Amino acid sequence: MKLEDNKIIIESECGTHLLRCEYCDEKFDISFYTYGNGQSVKSKIWGRLKYAFLHLFTGQLFSDQMIFNEKESKKLVDFINYKIK
Ligand SMILES: [Zn+2]
Repeated sequence: MKLEDNKIIIESECGTHLLRCEYCDEKFDISFYTYGNGQSVKSKIWGRLKYAFLHLFTGQLFSDQMIFNEKESKKLVDFINYKIK
């Protein structure tokens, strides 16, 4: 991603959500996507284990929230800061 681009896509920690942020006419248009769009999607065994351990150790449910790691969060912050200067 280049900061000069007008949109950025960030992947959540669980790997099933995406956040798309587009800058247009001095506004931010933010969209959220869920892998499989709510339909039953079979994930790979590593994805299932990761989800189970994250839920087990954090107590957080990922179906209704998006968690971004530091690297993905920084990408979003850098993009917004670059656009609003
Ligand atoms: Zn997620």
